[in-house]
Amino acid sequence: MTAGTPANDLRTVEDQLRIVLDAVRPVESIRVPLAEAFGRTLAEAATARIDIPAFDNSAMDGFAVRHEDVESASSDSPVRLRVVADIPAGSAIDPALAPGEAARIMTGSAIPTSADSIVPFEDTAGGLEGTIDEVVVLVAPGAGAYRRRRGADIETGDVVVAAGVRLGGYQVSACAAAGIAELVVTRAPRVAVISTGSELVEPGSPLGRGQIPDSNSLLLADLAADTGAEVVLRTSVADDVQALRAALAEASARGADVVVTSGGVSAGAYEVVKDTFGPGNRHGGEVEFARVAMQPGKPQAFGRLGNGMLVFGLPGNPVSVAVSFETFVRPALLTMQGRTDIVRPALRMTAAEGWRTPPGRRQYLPAAIDRSDPARWTVRPATAGGSGSHLAGGLGRAEALAVIPADVDQVAAGDMVDVMLLS
Ligand code: AMP
Ligand code: MG
Repeated sequence: MTAGTPANDLRTVEDQLRIVLDAVRPVESIRVPLAEAFGRTLAEAATARIDIPAFDNSAMDGFAVRHEDVESASSDSPVRLRVVADIPAGSAIDPALAPGEAARIMTGSAIPTSADSIVPFEDTAGGLEGTIDEVVVLVAPGAGAYRRRRGADIETGDVVVAAGVRLGGYQVSACAAAGIAELVVTRAPRVAVISTGSELVEPGSPLGRGQIPDSNSLLLADLAADTGAEVVLRTSVADDVQALRAALAEASARGADVVVTSGGVSAGAYEVVKDTFGPGNRHGGEVEFARVAMQPGKPQAFGRLGNGMLVFGLPGNPVSVAVSFETFVRPALLTMQGRTDIVRPALRMTAAEGWRTPPGRRQYLPAAIDRSDPARWTVRPATAGGSGSHLAGGLGRAEALAVIPADVDQVAAGDMVDVMLLS
């Protein structure tokens, strides 16, 4: 290990993220029906309109009884009750049980007001096959047995899902159960993705010498969609300022809140993003070109254009794009949506093998996890070739990013490392 965290001419990841998040403005809230709420973030807490359960109901198929009638029942001295009603699910009847009477009842059906306990079929002589008008109770139920109490789970007015939470299937269904028809959510941020590079061709196209498939635009569009954003434009432009300007105009015409570009931000010639937004080319806004103490992802452009669009200029190498998106763009898109939790879950895991990491920069290494021992997951680089940011194919095996502090220059097999889970 070497000291010095981070290299002192570089900005820390935390400082860059703070600059990004400070510039983020929340998107508006909209009211949507439940069926359109999946994947959105709740802007206002969802409160129950009804109790769950909505009424006292039976937890078993059996007989609704008056406890005092059956408290002496046993197999030696069974109690016989007249069955005066049948209550299937959805039935609205509320039969008045006189002493010595019971109602056959199915799971989930409303318990008669005059009954207080349930005797399951298993505790009767005839069970389901018993005679239709008499039941022989062999086991005394406890008072209130198998009675599901109204409001035991949620009471009217309780918060079912808090503001700032992403609505998945569990959350939407809980709202449905609580009698809610509409939710106030934040709208999807509109994202435009523009990959830059004269070497780029459509995936699957035959490659001329020096050409490569454009994988970044799909990577960015899919990662953005995964945060709940709407991708309003995905395109690729040559290293040409006019072409990039035209794509930016299209993004603006489509109402983009955020533009994410890949490539053209490093120190070489033909850096089209730098040439478009760099000093003297402000495009009516302010875009800063920073150097961040991370590997990959050191060159980062970020700012706001004159028309209000936030712009992220990510480096071009595919692993750099993935890591930069995780580190800066995803937190920004979640913050725009009012998401409370913008941090990925992280675990400490044992490194299954060693690898080198750059001094003075925090490393984010695409990693694969060996889950064969559930009590001891281990992690290894997803790319056999090491940590090269050009190793686009290794992303196909990555399910996590190993995050190695700037002052570490070598991970050894057996070391404990921080691992950020990507799903
Ligand atoms: P740049 O930062 O523009 O110099 O890009 C760095 C490297 O990333 C390029 O030489 C390409 O190998 C690769 N690259 C850039 N853009 C893409 C893209 N859209 N898809 C895949 N690879 C890319
Ligand atoms: Mg380029």
